[in-house]
Amino acid sequence: MYRKFSADHIFNGYSFRQQEVLITDTAGVIVDLVCEQEAGDNIEKLNGILCPGFINVHCHLELSHMKGLVPKHTGLVDFVLAVVNERHFEEAEILSAIEIAENEMLQNGIVAVGDICNNTLTIAQKMKERLWYHNFIEASGFPPAFAELRFNRALDIYHNYAEKFPRNSIVPHAPYSVSPEIFAMINDFAGNRIITIHNQETAAENDFFEKGTGDLLRMYRQMGIDISFFKPSGKSSLQTWLPHFTKEKKMILVHNVFTSAADLSFSKLHAANCKLQTFFCLCPNANLYISNMLPDVNMLMQHSANIVLGTDSLASNDQLCMLEEMKTLQHHFKELELSTLLQWSTSNGSRALQMDNMLGSFEKGKKPGLVLIEGVEDLKLKKDAKAKRIL
Ligand SMILES: [Zn+2]
Repeated sequence: MYRKFSADHIFNGYSFRQQEVLITDTAGVIVDLVCEQEAGDNIEKLNGILCPGFINVHCHLELSHMKGLVPKHTGLVDFVLAVVNERHFEEAEILSAIEIAENEMLQNGIVAVGDICNNTLTIAQKMKERLWYHNFIEASGFPPAFAELRFNRALDIYHNYAEKFPRNSIVPHAPYSVSPEIFAMINDFAGNRIITIHNQETAAENDFFEKGTGDLLRMYRQMGIDISFFKPSGKSSLQTWLPHFTKEKKMILVHNVFTSAADLSFSKLHAANCKLQTFFCLCPNANLYISNMLPDVNMLMQHSANIVLGTDSLASNDQLCMLEEMKTLQHHFKELELSTLLQWSTSNGSRALQMDNMLGSFEKGKKPGLVLIEGVEDLKLKKDAKAKRIL
Protein backbone atom coordinates (compact mmCIF):
# COMPACT_ATOMS: atom_id res chain seq x y z
CA MET A 1 0.00 0.00 0.00
CA TYR A 2 1.28 3.43 -1.01
CA ARG A 3 0.37 6.98 -0.19
CA LYS A 4 0.88 9.75 -2.75
CA PHE A 5 1.22 13.45 -1.91
CA SER A 6 1.31 16.57 -4.01
CA ALA A 7 1.57 20.09 -2.60
CA ASP A 8 1.92 23.70 -3.75
CA HIS A 9 5.65 23.13 -3.28
CA ILE A 10 7.64 20.06 -2.34
CA PHE A 11 11.01 20.68 -0.66
CA ASN A 12 13.07 17.49 -0.83
CA GLY A 13 15.69 18.47 1.79
CA TYR A 14 17.89 20.33 -0.73
CA SER A 15 15.66 22.26 -3.16
CA PHE A 16 12.09 22.88 -4.28
CA ARG A 17 10.74 20.37 -6.81
CA GLN A 18 8.12 21.43 -9.34
CA GLN A 19 5.16 19.29 -10.35
CA GLU A 20 6.34 16.22 -8.53
CA VAL A 21 4.49 13.72 -6.39
CA LEU A 22 5.95 12.12 -3.27
CA ILE A 23 5.21 8.42 -2.84
CA THR A 24 5.63 6.73 0.55
CA ASP A 25 4.55 3.46 2.06
CA THR A 26 1.90 3.62 4.79
CA ALA A 27 4.61 3.81 7.48
CA GLY A 28 6.15 6.90 5.85
CA VAL A 29 9.20 5.30 4.21
CA ILE A 30 10.05 7.20 1.01
CA VAL A 31 9.42 5.13 -2.10
CA ASP A 32 9.95 7.76 -4.79
CA LEU A 33 9.52 11.34 -5.93
CA VAL A 34 8.11 11.25 -9.46
CA CYS A 35 6.68 13.72 -11.97
CA GLU A 36 2.91 14.19 -11.91
CA GLN A 37 2.28 12.34 -15.18
CA GLU A 38 3.83 9.14 -13.82
CA ALA A 39 2.13 9.27 -10.43
CA GLY A 40 -1.22 7.72 -11.35
CA ASP A 41 -4.31 8.44 -9.26
CA ASN A 42 -5.29 8.65 -5.58
CA ILE A 43 -3.00 11.61 -4.97
CA GLU A 44 -3.58 13.52 -1.70
CA LYS A 45 -3.37 17.20 -2.58
CA LEU A 46 -1.95 19.46 0.16
CA ASN A 47 -1.98 23.23 0.40
CA GLY A 48 1.40 24.58 1.45
CA ILE A 49 4.99 23.33 1.45
CA LEU A 50 5.61 19.63 2.02
CA CYS A 51 9.08 19.01 3.50
CA PRO A 52 11.00 16.43 5.57
CA GLY A 53 10.74 16.55 9.38
CA PHE A 54 12.88 19.19 11.12
CA ILE A 55 16.12 18.48 12.97
CA ASN A 56 16.50 20.57 16.14
CA VAL A 57 20.26 20.45 16.60
CA HIS A 58 20.38 22.23 19.98
CA CYS A 59 17.96 21.88 22.89
CA HIS A 60 17.99 21.33 26.66
CA LEU A 61 14.82 19.32 27.27
CA GLU A 62 15.72 19.06 30.98
CA LEU A 63 15.26 22.86 31.39
CA SER A 64 11.69 22.88 30.05
CA HIS A 65 10.26 23.70 33.50
CA MET A 66 12.09 27.05 33.40
CA LYS A 67 9.80 28.51 30.72
CA GLY A 68 9.23 32.22 31.40
CA LEU A 69 11.31 32.17 34.57
CA VAL A 70 14.36 34.16 33.44
CA PRO A 71 13.67 37.76 32.33
CA LYS A 72 14.59 38.69 28.74
CA HIS A 73 17.63 40.72 27.63
CA THR A 74 19.66 40.35 30.86
CA GLY A 75 22.81 39.22 29.02
CA LEU A 76 24.51 35.85 29.26
CA VAL A 77 26.13 36.13 32.70
CA ASP A 78 22.86 36.86 34.50
CA PHE A 79 21.15 34.19 32.39
CA VAL A 80 23.71 31.54 33.39
CA LEU A 81 23.49 32.57 37.05
CA ALA A 82 19.69 32.34 36.91
CA VAL A 83 19.78 28.85 35.35
CA VAL A 84 22.36 27.59 37.88
CA ASN A 85 20.47 29.02 40.86
CA GLU A 86 16.87 28.50 39.81
CA ARG A 87 16.83 25.17 37.92
CA HIS A 88 16.06 23.06 40.99
CA PHE A 89 12.36 22.11 41.11
CA GLU A 90 10.33 19.17 42.36
CA GLU A 91 11.12 16.19 40.13
CA ALA A 92 7.45 15.63 39.21
CA GLU A 93 7.21 19.18 37.93
CA ILE A 94 10.37 18.78 35.82
CA LEU A 95 9.17 15.46 34.34
CA SER A 96 5.79 16.89 33.43
CA ALA A 97 7.41 19.93 31.73
CA ILE A 98 9.69 17.57 29.76
CA GLU A 99 6.69 15.64 28.46
CA ILE A 100 4.82 18.81 27.46
CA ALA A 101 7.91 20.22 25.72
CA GLU A 102 8.48 17.01 23.75
CA ASN A 103 4.82 17.06 22.66
CA GLU A 104 5.31 20.62 21.46
CA MET A 105 8.36 19.65 19.37
CA LEU A 106 6.49 16.72 17.85
CA GLN A 107 3.51 18.88 16.93
CA ASN A 108 5.77 21.52 15.37
CA GLY A 109 7.29 19.00 12.95
CA ILE A 110 10.55 18.20 14.76
CA VAL A 111 11.70 14.58 14.29
CA ALA A 112 15.17 14.62 15.85
CA VAL A 113 16.93 16.57 18.58
CA GLY A 114 20.50 17.20 19.71
CA ASP A 115 19.77 17.39 23.42
CA ILE A 116 22.10 18.65 26.15
CA CYS A 117 21.95 16.57 29.35
CA ASN A 118 23.28 17.38 32.81
CA ASN A 119 21.21 14.72 34.55
CA THR A 120 19.17 11.60 33.79
CA LEU A 121 15.73 13.18 34.08
CA THR A 122 14.92 13.05 30.34
CA ILE A 123 15.62 9.31 29.98
CA ALA A 124 12.09 8.12 30.80
CA GLN A 125 10.48 10.40 28.21
CA LYS A 126 13.08 9.57 25.54
CA MET A 127 12.44 5.84 26.05
CA LYS A 128 8.99 6.36 24.54
CA GLU A 129 10.89 6.77 21.23
CA ARG A 130 8.64 9.42 19.74
CA LEU A 131 11.60 11.53 18.57
CA TRP A 132 15.18 10.63 17.66
CA TYR A 133 17.77 12.01 20.07
CA HIS A 134 21.50 12.44 20.21
CA ASN A 135 22.25 12.93 23.92
CA PHE A 136 25.08 15.36 24.58
CA ILE A 137 26.19 14.76 28.19
CA GLU A 138 27.68 18.02 29.37
CA ALA A 139 30.93 18.22 31.34
CA SER A 140 31.89 21.47 33.02
CA GLY A 141 34.34 22.69 35.65
CA PHE A 142 36.80 25.50 35.09
CA PRO A 143 39.44 24.95 37.81
CA PRO A 144 41.83 22.21 36.58
CA ALA A 145 41.91 20.61 40.06
CA PHE A 146 38.33 19.31 39.63
CA ALA A 147 38.83 17.93 36.11
CA GLU A 148 38.82 14.23 36.93
CA LEU A 149 35.93 14.51 39.37
CA ARG A 150 33.79 16.46 36.93
CA PHE A 151 34.61 14.28 33.94
CA ASN A 152 33.76 11.15 35.95
CA ARG A 153 30.43 12.69 36.93
CA ALA A 154 29.66 13.21 33.22
CA LEU A 155 30.85 9.66 32.51
CA ASP A 156 28.38 8.26 35.09
CA ILE A 157 25.52 10.11 33.38
CA TYR A 158 26.81 9.01 29.96
CA HIS A 159 26.65 5.33 31.04
CA ASN A 160 23.04 5.79 32.16
CA TYR A 161 22.13 7.04 28.68
CA ALA A 162 24.33 4.54 26.84
CA GLU A 163 22.49 1.66 28.56
CA LYS A 164 19.29 2.80 26.86
CA PHE A 165 20.24 4.70 23.71
CA PRO A 166 22.80 4.30 20.90
CA ARG A 167 23.62 8.00 20.26
CA ASN A 168 25.49 9.77 23.06
CA SER A 169 28.58 11.93 23.56
CA ILE A 170 30.37 13.68 26.42
CA VAL A 171 30.75 17.33 25.48
CA PRO A 172 32.15 20.56 26.94
CA HIS A 173 29.57 23.08 28.18
CA ALA A 174 31.42 26.23 27.03
CA PRO A 175 34.99 27.46 26.57
CA TYR A 176 34.79 29.50 29.80
CA SER A 177 33.47 26.64 31.95
CA VAL A 178 35.77 23.78 30.93
CA SER A 179 39.46 23.37 31.78
CA PRO A 180 42.08 22.26 29.22
CA GLU A 181 42.29 19.00 31.24
CA ILE A 182 38.59 18.25 30.64
CA PHE A 183 38.91 19.25 26.97
CA ALA A 184 41.71 16.66 26.64
CA MET A 185 39.58 13.92 28.28
CA ILE A 186 36.69 14.73 25.95
CA ASN A 187 38.98 14.71 22.91
CA ASP A 188 40.30 11.28 23.92
CA PHE A 189 36.97 9.72 24.93
CA ALA A 190 36.37 6.82 22.55
CA GLY A 191 32.57 7.12 22.56
CA ASN A 192 32.63 10.61 21.07
CA ARG A 193 31.78 10.86 17.38
CA ILE A 194 29.95 14.18 17.62
CA ILE A 195 30.92 17.06 19.90
CA THR A 196 28.93 20.19 20.57
CA ILE A 197 29.84 23.32 22.53
CA HIS A 198 28.26 26.69 23.30
CA ASN A 199 30.56 29.03 21.36
CA GLN A 200 31.03 32.81 21.50
CA GLU A 201 27.54 33.46 22.82
CA THR A 202 28.67 36.72 24.45
CA ALA A 203 31.32 39.36 23.71
CA ALA A 204 32.58 38.81 27.27
CA GLU A 205 33.83 35.35 26.24
CA ASN A 206 36.30 36.86 23.77
CA ASP A 207 37.32 39.58 26.26
CA PHE A 208 38.09 36.92 28.84
CA PHE A 209 40.40 34.85 26.62
CA GLU A 210 41.97 37.80 24.81
CA LYS A 211 42.62 40.06 27.82
CA GLY A 212 41.39 38.36 31.00
CA THR A 213 38.76 41.07 31.47
CA GLY A 214 35.01 41.49 31.11
CA ASP A 215 31.69 40.39 32.57
CA LEU A 216 32.67 36.71 32.99
CA LEU A 217 34.84 37.78 35.95
CA ARG A 218 31.61 38.78 37.72
CA MET A 219 30.18 35.32 37.02
CA TYR A 220 33.18 33.49 38.54
CA ARG A 221 33.07 35.83 41.55
CA GLN A 222 29.35 35.26 42.14
CA MET A 223 29.75 31.50 41.74
CA GLY A 224 32.74 31.48 44.11
CA ILE A 225 35.10 30.03 41.49
CA ASP A 226 38.80 30.81 42.03
CA ILE A 227 40.36 31.59 38.65
CA SER A 228 43.77 32.76 39.89
CA PHE A 229 45.37 29.97 37.78
CA PHE A 230 43.94 31.45 34.55
CA LYS A 231 46.17 33.17 31.99
CA PRO A 232 44.54 34.82 28.96
CA SER A 233 45.69 33.31 25.65
CA GLY A 234 45.62 36.63 23.80
CA LYS A 235 43.38 34.95 21.23
CA SER A 236 39.62 34.84 20.67
CA SER A 237 37.61 32.19 22.46
CA LEU A 238 37.26 29.94 19.39
CA GLN A 239 40.95 30.20 18.55
CA THR A 240 41.76 29.26 22.15
CA TRP A 241 39.54 26.19 22.57
CA LEU A 242 39.26 24.63 19.10
CA PRO A 243 42.90 23.35 19.04
CA HIS A 244 41.98 21.03 21.96
CA PHE A 245 40.19 18.91 19.34
CA THR A 246 42.62 16.97 17.19
CA LYS A 247 40.71 13.84 16.25
CA GLU A 248 38.39 13.12 13.36
CA LYS A 249 34.98 14.17 14.65
CA LYS A 250 31.92 16.22 13.89
CA MET A 251 31.95 19.48 15.81
CA ILE A 252 28.77 21.51 16.30
CA LEU A 253 29.44 25.08 17.46
CA VAL A 254 26.31 26.59 18.96
CA HIS A 255 25.33 30.32 18.90
CA ASN A 256 28.41 31.97 17.26
CA VAL A 257 27.06 35.46 17.95
CA PHE A 258 30.57 36.91 18.36
CA THR A 259 32.43 34.72 15.86
CA SER A 260 34.59 36.77 13.48
CA ALA A 261 35.75 36.20 9.90
CA ALA A 262 39.23 35.48 11.32
CA ASP A 263 37.71 32.82 13.60
CA LEU A 264 35.99 31.18 10.63
CA SER A 265 39.22 31.10 8.61
CA PHE A 266 41.03 29.67 11.63
CA SER A 267 38.41 26.97 12.15
CA LYS A 268 38.46 26.00 8.47
CA LEU A 269 42.22 25.49 8.55
CA HIS A 270 42.20 23.58 11.86
CA ALA A 271 39.29 21.42 10.71
CA ALA A 272 41.13 20.50 7.51
CA ASN A 273 44.31 19.65 9.45
CA CYS A 274 42.50 17.43 11.97
CA LYS A 275 39.72 16.10 9.72
CA LEU A 276 37.06 17.75 11.84
CA GLN A 277 33.75 18.49 10.19
CA THR A 278 32.34 21.70 11.63
CA PHE A 279 28.70 22.80 11.81
CA PHE A 280 27.54 26.21 13.02
CA CYS A 281 24.23 25.97 14.88
CA LEU A 282 22.14 29.13 15.12
CA CYS A 283 19.52 29.62 17.83
CA PRO A 284 18.32 33.13 16.93
CA ASN A 285 15.30 33.32 19.23
CA ALA A 286 17.45 32.36 22.24
CA ASN A 287 20.04 35.00 21.27
CA LEU A 288 17.30 37.63 21.09
CA TYR A 289 15.86 36.39 24.41
CA ILE A 290 19.16 36.52 26.30
CA SER A 291 21.09 39.42 24.77
CA ASN A 292 18.94 40.87 21.96
CA MET A 293 21.78 40.17 19.50
CA LEU A 294 22.08 37.92 16.46
CA PRO A 295 25.03 36.21 14.76
CA ASP A 296 26.35 37.60 11.46
CA VAL A 297 24.56 35.10 9.25
CA ASN A 298 25.77 36.68 5.99
CA MET A 299 29.38 36.33 7.07
CA LEU A 300 28.86 32.68 8.04
CA MET A 301 27.36 32.04 4.61
CA GLN A 302 30.18 33.88 2.81
CA HIS A 303 32.60 31.48 4.54
CA SER A 304 30.44 28.58 3.33
CA ALA A 305 29.91 27.38 6.87
CA ASN A 306 27.65 24.35 7.33
CA ILE A 307 24.73 26.02 9.08
CA VAL A 308 22.10 24.20 11.16
CA LEU A 309 19.37 25.48 13.49
CA GLY A 310 18.28 24.83 17.07
CA THR A 311 15.64 26.09 19.45
CA ASP A 312 17.81 26.04 22.61
CA SER A 313 15.69 25.47 25.75
CA LEU A 314 12.43 26.89 27.05
CA ALA A 315 14.56 28.77 29.62
CA SER A 316 15.57 31.09 26.76
CA ASN A 317 12.77 30.67 24.23
CA ASP A 318 8.99 31.07 24.23
CA GLN A 319 8.51 27.89 22.17
CA LEU A 320 10.35 24.90 20.74
CA CYS A 321 9.56 25.47 17.07
CA MET A 322 12.00 25.41 14.16
CA LEU A 323 9.62 27.41 11.97
CA GLU A 324 9.76 30.28 14.51
CA GLU A 325 13.59 30.23 14.27
CA MET A 326 13.31 30.39 10.47
CA LYS A 327 10.81 33.28 10.67
CA THR A 328 13.18 35.26 12.90
CA LEU A 329 16.10 34.75 10.51
CA GLN A 330 13.94 35.62 7.50
CA HIS A 331 12.81 38.81 9.27
CA HIS A 332 16.34 39.98 10.15
CA PHE A 333 18.15 38.77 7.00
CA LYS A 334 15.78 39.66 4.18
CA GLU A 335 17.88 38.17 1.40
CA LEU A 336 17.82 34.68 2.98
CA GLU A 337 15.84 32.31 0.79
CA LEU A 338 13.31 29.92 2.26
CA SER A 339 15.00 26.98 0.50
CA THR A 340 18.24 27.83 2.37
CA LEU A 341 16.44 27.98 5.75
CA LEU A 342 14.69 24.70 5.04
CA GLN A 343 17.93 23.00 4.05
CA TRP A 344 19.53 24.13 7.34
CA SER A 345 16.52 22.70 9.21
CA THR A 346 16.37 19.36 7.42
CA SER A 347 19.28 17.79 5.49
CA ASN A 348 22.03 19.88 7.13
CA GLY A 349 20.71 19.08 10.60
CA SER A 350 20.53 15.38 9.83
CA ARG A 351 24.18 15.40 8.70
CA ALA A 352 25.27 17.25 11.85
CA LEU A 353 23.61 14.63 14.08
CA GLN A 354 24.76 11.75 11.84
CA MET A 355 21.18 10.74 11.12
CA ASP A 356 21.28 11.44 7.38
CA ASN A 357 20.98 7.73 6.59
CA MET A 358 17.33 7.88 7.74
CA LEU A 359 16.24 11.52 8.13
CA GLY A 360 16.49 14.97 6.55
CA SER A 361 15.45 14.38 2.93
CA PHE A 362 12.94 12.71 0.65
CA GLU A 363 15.29 10.00 -0.60
CA LYS A 364 14.38 6.40 -1.23
CA GLY A 365 14.43 4.22 1.90
CA LYS A 366 14.57 7.09 4.42
CA LYS A 367 11.76 7.70 6.91
CA PRO A 368 12.20 11.45 7.48
CA GLY A 369 8.67 12.37 8.64
CA LEU A 370 6.41 14.49 6.42
CA VAL A 371 5.78 18.08 7.51
CA LEU A 372 3.30 20.49 5.97
CA ILE A 373 4.02 24.24 6.25
CA GLU A 374 0.95 26.40 5.84
CA GLY A 375 0.92 30.20 5.61
CA VAL A 376 3.51 30.81 2.87
CA GLU A 377 3.29 33.60 0.31
CA ASP A 378 5.77 34.01 -2.59
CA LEU A 379 8.03 31.51 -0.84
CA LYS A 380 8.20 33.68 2.30
CA LEU A 381 6.88 32.54 5.67
CA LYS A 382 3.98 34.68 6.82
CA LYS A 383 3.87 35.71 10.49
CA ASP A 384 1.19 33.13 11.22
CA ALA A 385 2.81 30.30 9.20
CA LYS A 386 2.48 26.94 10.93
CA ALA A 387 4.19 23.58 10.53
CA LYS A 388 2.52 20.27 11.34
CA ARG A 389 3.50 16.66 11.06
CA ILE A 390 1.29 14.73 8.63
CA LEU A 391 3.09 11.36 8.59
ZN1 LIG B 1 22.21 25.85 25.00
